Amino acid sequence: MNHKKYNKHLLDFIKNSPTPFHVVANMQESLDAAGFQHLKEEERWQLINGNGYYVTRNDSSIIVFIFGMKPSVETGIRLVGGHTDSPCLKIKPQPEVYKNSYYQLGVEVYGGALLGPWFDRDLSIAGKVSYQTEKGKLQESLIDMKRPVGIIPSLAIHLDRDANNNRSIDPQTDMLPILYKCGNTREDFRSILAKELPPSAHSGSVSILDYDLYFYDCQLPALIGFKEDFISSARLDNLLSCFAGLQALLNSNKQITSVLACYDHEEVGSTSAIGANGSFLESLLDRIYSEPEEKSRVMAQSILISTDNAHGIHPNFPSKHDENHAPVINEGLVIKVNANQRYATNSTTSSFLKNLCKEISVPTQYFVSRAGIPCGSTIGPITAANIGVKTIDVGVPTFAMHSIRELAGANDAYYLFQTLSAFLDIEKL
Ligand code: ZN
Repeated sequence: MNHKKYNKHLLDFIKNSPTPFHVVANMQESLDAAGFQHLKEEERWQLINGNGYYVTRNDSSIIVFIFGMKPSVETGIRLVGGHTDSPCLKIKPQPEVYKNSYYQLGVEVYGGALLGPWFDRDLSIAGKVSYQTEKGKLQESLIDMKRPVGIIPSLAIHLDRDANNNRSIDPQTDMLPILYKCGNTREDFRSILAKELPPSAHSGSVSILDYDLYFYDCQLPALIGFKEDFISSARLDNLLSCFAGLQALLNSNKQITSVLACYDHEEVGSTSAIGANGSFLESLLDRIYSEPEEKSRVMAQSILISTDNAHGIHPNFPSKHDENHAPVINEGLVIKVNANQRYATNSTTSSFLKNLCKEISVPTQYFVSRAGIPCGSTIGPITAANIGVKTIDVGVPTFAMHSIRELAGANDAYYLFQTLSAFLDIEKL
């Protein structure tokens, strides 16, 4: 796959993946088409060397693996990690708010969202809905309204003359999306939702019980800039990495056992049954390597590449970076280093990666946060701690992380794919 074709597929993937549920569903579709088998955690597994498998939890986290031809105790395994979730607005369970003739929905902020950019956007709703059919059966369906159904208008500057200097945002009162003008009529949100279920989901009337629904921006991902240097899109953090990991795994030679873990709940700390700080990966590894000694021997010679976006140096705000460790967009993959273990990279793993990237002519650069600015974290250190695997944290440089629209480099996305592809095919570490 060449660079341009890759980016086109990446943009399509992000467009079709407004929530972690849709990310996993789209990954499943590609995996099914490539002959991967869906394993259920409640069933007995019989793995065949050279075959590919995947397991999901909550339909929003997924672990994909190839059970390699070569014995893992001789080769170790290759692991790649990423996350399926992005900061956004989640609809509350009893969301109806009627104010000044408008029908609005109450929302909770999911993760560390940059709230300002959510104003004046054409918003749609997507996620998972649980309902009871006419026959009393409980069922679930994914929905994506696709069209703009809501908006959070800004307050005009005339009504807040200080807005450009000092406007704070209270998400409880300031960020309720407006759905329509309702006058004095009252409508249950669940009855609105029932009409949005796909026709295949029900025959006859259904009663919606609950849902995990999120607002998202309808603006499509795009290649932008005078020379189309940039990818502009929602959820680049971290669908850009999930897509790169998936494509690399689909293209791998199947000799070595390789694992791709894409977790939900990274943006809220990862501690949950489906998050990186839960039991998902460990339980899967216990089933692949049922002898504790075998598992320890495998882990001791394995490496995890944890992929999550990095902060590129912003030309309007250069003082926010350490000038010697300030990644530039389209200048290569970022190796993330933090003395306090907010990133799990050490000199052994970074040397391994630099060597690998040199061989395939992918440039690398470093990110170390400015002393005095607290460093963000990701799934790398968590996974390293839980399964004891040597880890390197990498990512592509981006602007506007956690905004409703983020910016990455058209070259860097492909560099990440090339790096992960080369990594999964290394026969001996
Ligand atoms: Zn991230």
